[in-house]
Amino acid sequence: MAYTVFKLTDYSETALENVAAECVRACRDEAGAVRNDAELKTFRDRWIGRKNGILTQINDLWLKAAPKDAKREVGRRVNDVKANVEDILQKAEDIQLERATGTPLVRERVDISLPGVHRPIGAEHPVIKTTNEMVRVFQKLGYSVADGPVVETDYYNFEALNFPPNHPARDTQDTLFIAGQQGKPQRERLLLRTHTSPVQIRTMEKMRPPIRIVIPGTVHRNDPPDASHSPMFHQIEGLAVDTNITFGDLKGTLDHAMKEFFGSSVKTSFRPSFFPFTEPSAEMFVSCFICGGSGKRGADPCRPCKQTGWIEILGCGMVDPNVFEFVKDNGYDPKKVSGFAFGMGADRIALLKYGVDDLQLFFQGDVRFLQQFG
Ligand SMILES: [Zn+2]
Repeated sequence: MAYTVFKLTDYSETALENVAAECVRACRDEAGAVRNDAELKTFRDRWIGRKNGILTQINDLWLKAAPKDAKREVGRRVNDVKANVEDILQKAEDIQLERATGTPLVRERVDISLPGVHRPIGAEHPVIKTTNEMVRVFQKLGYSVADGPVVETDYYNFEALNFPPNHPARDTQDTLFIAGQQGKPQRERLLLRTHTSPVQIRTMEKMRPPIRIVIPGTVHRNDPPDASHSPMFHQIEGLAVDTNITFGDLKGTLDHAMKEFFGSSVKTSFRPSFFPFTEPSAEMFVSCFICGGSGKRGADPCRPCKQTGWIEILGCGMVDPNVFEFVKDNGYDPKKVSGFAFGMGADRIALLKYGVDDLQLFFQGDVRFLQQFG
């Protein structure tokens, strides 16, 4: 018996699914029976004829007649049936066309010998790559990655890091201030962060000790661009706070990290230095991984280490108790906890690692240069 559309009486999910499936099945059976153009035309008219085709009937008898609360679900089923019927009809037309012409349809053919569309996928920028590699070294030691805003307040960038107002150390960081803030108190004035260190304070405000974090990010200083300076550059900073952390922990951690990053044969050396937020402070050098510490490359002098056999890599030190005072209420009592911090320039390390002699090349976006690191 030919398929006929009836008015629906049962609007349950199962009933709707059954009538929809039955309709699609009938359509598929009838399509399978089409043998020539005339039968195809009859089939097409019967199912999608505008006036009284089955799809039109379904629309009238199922959807339009459905009670308001069932309309949404019935509509979904009707759309589903329509899509199926159109698909079946399309296939039936294709089959009939192939039968009439005796050749398979071009639409169905794929020429696998054609070359594909080439889309270069890009690669990590050498600075980002270096940053990620260094961050991974510390992640393996149990450090987590912390992040913070690039536009900072004077408080987080200076004051809470033990740079009091008018402190001469502020002048060593040529700061870019946001304009038009003279009306605000100094600690609230906005600036482009000159180091990633504000994230140390922000993290200690949020998390109680112990913490171990590594902070990669962009920083800005008012430096005219040249072969070794850029107004925007990248830092990687770290902070570990717990009870009984000593300078020995600092040395051990950084010595391990440098061996992991530059190779197990590098040696490290610490020399006294000054930073407002650490006490004592040190600069860490690694033995030159280009000349192996000899200061010479064959008969030529080694330029990256200036023939000294040592390369300065980072600044570090024990967190100054004055810094802990700013976050004391969150568990950082300087009498109970201690910690160390370190910071390095990712761009400089990338320069050394890849033997690039001009920092500006990293930021000019010349694909011919960048491709070499892909
Ligand atoms: Zn060297």
